[in-house]
Amino acid sequence: MTKYKIKHDIGECIGCAACAAISDNWEMVEINGEEKAKPKKGEIDESELEDNKEAAESCPVEVIHIVDTETKKKII
Ligand code: SF4
Repeated sequence: MTKYKIKHDIGECIGCAACAAISDNWEMVEINGEEKAKPKKGEIDESELEDNKEAAESCPVEVIHIVDTETKKKII
């Protein structure tokens, strides 16, 4: 069952690839000639939380957020 939603402000992503180096859920793609990160899965369960949290913590511009779908609270 899905428990968390990934929110990524792709417009503010600077394409540093830190998240993709840390988590398998993140990959780099080219959009309009710019390198951007993209989550492979936009919804994750408990077992994938730590990995994605570390990716969010690694982001220098803090554009990765994770929201608990039940409580609607932002985890990060
Ligand atoms: S760490 Fe942040 S800025 Fe860097 S590629 Fe990932 S989302 Fe973009």
